[in-house]
Amino acid sequence: MKVWACRMNKIAICPGSFDPVTNGHVEIIRRAAAMFDRVIVLVASNAMKRYLFSAEERKSLLCRCTADIPNVEVDCDEGLTALYAKRVGAAVIVKGLRALSDFDFEFQQALTNRKLNMAVETVFLPASAENMYLSSSMVKQVGMLGGDVSCFVPPEALPDILARIRL
Ligand code: ADP
Repeated sequence: MKVWACRMNKIAICPGSFDPVTNGHVEIIRRAAAMFDRVIVLVASNAMKRYLFSAEERKSLLCRCTADIPNVEVDCDEGLTALYAKRVGAAVIVKGLRALSDFDFEFQQALTNRKLNMAVETVFLPASAENMYLSSSMVKQVGMLGGDVSCFVPPEALPDILARIRL
């Protein structure tokens, strides 16, 4: 996809579970990379949640899918995104916003992050029409029931996703 934007001289973080990475995630990362100097994709892990892929596996898939974007790096963290942002000096948290489903939760998160770190601003990028209804859980559901997920995930991640889903 061709992306045009003015680039801002700032570090941005794209946090998420990425379990697994989808075309929707990569689209948001690409658009953030066109806007900011340095983008850190942050693989978050919540001790209360069960994941299909370990944090290291999610990181490795993201690295593969973003290898062609020079100003993108991937990291893992189990703590609060707002505090991670403070540690690395990031000024912006970039989140993708899908239909209505994300709004309430993302708004709550943005306000909490701002309370925890006044120096960080959350920027929402609207999902594209193509990826508006795409989520990692949908990919897992479709894949586990034998459906074709190749149009939902980047080709670099497809073999690993299929291997894990079909275990
Ligand atoms: P999910 O598990 O629901 O796919 P993640 O926690 O991994 O979500 O998402 C990380 C970030 O990517 C969030 O800001 C989320 O809104 C965004 N995102 C996820 N899927 C999409 C999509 N299809 N289009 C745009 N943004 C998305």
